[in-house]
Amino acid sequence: MSRYRHIFFDLDRTLWDFDTNSKEALSEIYTDFQLEREGVIDAVSFINVYTGINEQLWKAYRLGNIHKALLRSLRFSKTLEHFGCRNNELGVSLGNRYLELSPMKTALMPHTLEVLDHLAGRYKLHIITNGFDEVQGIKLRQSGIAGFFQEVITSEMASARKPDPMVFKLAFAKTGSAAATSVMIGDDLDTDISGARGVGMDQVYFNPARKVHNEDVTFEIENLSELKLIL
Ligand SMILES: [Mg+2]
Repeated sequence: MSRYRHIFFDLDRTLWDFDTNSKEALSEIYTDFQLEREGVIDAVSFINVYTGINEQLWKAYRLGNIHKALLRSLRFSKTLEHFGCRNNELGVSLGNRYLELSPMKTALMPHTLEVLDHLAGRYKLHIITNGFDEVQGIKLRQSGIAGFFQEVITSEMASARKPDPMVFKLAFAKTGSAAATSVMIGDDLDTDISGARGVGMDQVYFNPARKVHNEDVTFEIENLSELKLIL
């Protein structure tokens, strides 16, 4: 019998296949906005440049250096600028369209449904995510997994982001759980894993790319289906 009662999942890149969904949305945007006319060579180049710029800007956002609204449009205007197109208005339009389109995408990480089905009768399942409030709910509903979860705790609700202990404390309070009987499952060592460890909660590091690291983790898996053996 497992010591755990509550399982907290990260959402993006743990259950919801962020990379596949994002690429799909960006390809559609490339076509719909006829970006080849703006000098963007092809959809693949558009996606690659956007991905690099988005990562940099997310770092700045995490550090509190830029606001959400600016992040959303700037990642597109900077991408356009890379291809010689200076058009902030178009950047804002692309940013808005991406926000509408991307959460409607439904690709899940392999074995997500099978594993949630297996765990649902045995544990109380919840989400802790650093994503934006308004989009995370849409992702959960569209991809058909919302019903598995009792509570969805976002960083906006807690006014803090993982690994800040505030997020986890809010999660314990909202779910009536405690660190000793809970486990956090996520793909990010810096946010999910170190955050959970910081409040004394066990962790499962989901590491499909087999990244080499020196962190001390409770469990490590490459494939979500391994959760059926651990939990
Ligand atoms: Mg993640």
